[in-house]
Amino acid sequence: MYKLITTLLITLSLAFAQTKEICLTFDDLPVVGLRQTDISLQRPIIDKLTGTLNRYAIPAIGFVNACRFYSNGQIDSQKIDLVNRWLDAGLEIGNHAYSHIDYNKVSCREFTADLLKGESLIKELAAEHGKSIRYFRHPFLHRGNTKEKVDSLATFLAEHGYREAPVTIDNTDYLFNAAYDSAIAKKDSVLMKTIGAEYVAYQEKKLAYFENQSLKLFDYNMRQIFLLHANAINADYVDELAEMILRHNYRFVTIDRVLEDKAYLTPDTFYKTFGISWLDRWALTAGKKGEFFRDEPRTPEFILNLAGVDSE
Ligand SMILES: [Zn+2]
Repeated sequence: MYKLITTLLITLSLAFAQTKEICLTFDDLPVVGLRQTDISLQRPIIDKLTGTLNRYAIPAIGFVNACRFYSNGQIDSQKIDLVNRWLDAGLEIGNHAYSHIDYNKVSCREFTADLLKGESLIKELAAEHGKSIRYFRHPFLHRGNTKEKVDSLATFLAEHGYREAPVTIDNTDYLFNAAYDSAIAKKDSVLMKTIGAEYVAYQEKKLAYFENQSLKLFDYNMRQIFLLHANAINADYVDELAEMILRHNYRFVTIDRVLEDKAYLTPDTFYKTFGISWLDRWALTAGKKGEFFRDEPRTPEFILNLAGVDSE
């Protein structure tokens, strides 16, 4: 009897332990980073990323800025090849607008023209891999800074067969990457390791924070969407990030699966300029104030210094 109960308890705890789900998303494909503009530096980044994602069976989606296909004003087939490598690895791509245009600064007409220009350059690539472009990720996470702009873009996206790709785990991986880039430039491998270790620790705190925000807001841990970028630090650390996320009993799922969670139907009437997590949008819409957001982990000072910025 004792044995039976023990077995039952283990089975139950395993079942509960694996209920957390997360989708990893990568923005600014093919590759982003001030120092990684040359194809010889970009190719290893994509190959490392796709290799690790495949090894951990992570069904990630990457959001493309097709303007990054150009070198010196000419379309560069080697850059397009980077996205083909991503698709060859069985991973999905979505649209992130052509030029990473900021919706806070332009009209809906101008924004959607840029979005369609991006689509025209990536649609074929997806089609050649038996896929279509189904998701749109807002550059800077800007959905629109007035109700009219939010509504008109949302309508446009729906009419053009897009689903919005929200983010729940927002973070400053791009600042860690800028710091990491400066260490690469100095060929300082000790500093690179220090930044890498700090980076994984920071993302672990972010994961825990947004998990807790979901618990506070919805009384359960929703299926999460992690925002990352196609950059050097993630190429080198996505394996450690994956291990960390697995230690927190998550399993990696597609964006389709994540968006089945009813939490994503929560109203968002945050019509301000900031690009923030959808969990923050929903909390602010629900009238939550400063105290609710108190514990958000900050980017360490030495990372800000190395990245050459004053604040997040
Ligand atoms: Zn972006």
